[in-house]
Amino acid sequence: MSTQMHQIKKMPRPAEGFFGKLAETAKGLWSLIVGLGVTGRVFTQKQETVHYPRKTVSEPALTGYRGHIELVHKDDDPTTPRCIMCMKCVKVCPSGCISIKSKKIEHIEHKDKEQDPNTHHSNGLTVLPKQAVPSPGKGKRELTLFKLDYSLCSLCSLCVETCPARSLRHSKHVYWSEFDKDNITLDLLDRMRKQAGAKEDS
Ligand code: SF4
Ligand code: SF4
Repeated sequence: MSTQMHQIKKMPRPAEGFFGKLAETAKGLWSLIVGLGVTGRVFTQKQETVHYPRKTVSEPALTGYRGHIELVHKDDDPTTPRCIMCMKCVKVCPSGCISIKSKKIEHIEHKDKEQDPNTHHSNGLTVLPKQAVPSPGKGKRELTLFKLDYSLCSLCSLCVETCPARSLRHSKHVYWSEFDKDNITLDLLDRMRKQAGAKEDS
């Protein structure tokens, strides 16, 4: 067996004599001064914490904060999400937290231009259709539910990165807490619409 394997690291011997003890004391004092220097530097820096709930963190301080995911609305319509219902986020989510429901919107074909409700006449009146023909084959889909079970979410961000329509992002919902995990299932479509309504009211 090699001698290297049996080598035991020797502990430094305590300082001996007057000068040894003096050196030990000086080392201890220096360490104290360095520690106090760090404390003093942090103490005089700008405060990073806030006295919640009297104060809340400013928006810029939340940059990079990953709250639960939320839907992003279309640029020209705050009540409609950008979502194209491709289901990629549902498939990629490792925890199965996302559920989506959609319905087909019946496309109404009008017999002629006169019957199109969007046809405006020079007198300013809109002509209502006399006869409209539903054409389900040409229908578009509409998102009716976008549910997130946040109790399962690991905030991995895969859904956000995968979404081809950039319809998902992490929220800045920082002060949210619940006692019951059943209360942390979110209807994200409803939430987005309520936020749009709140903005209009303010
Ligand atoms: S962040 Fe991850 S775990 Fe959470 S919903 Fe998205 S894909 Fe699922
Ligand atoms: S990946 Fe994006 S566009 Fe596709 S269903 Fe999910 S949120 Fe909608």
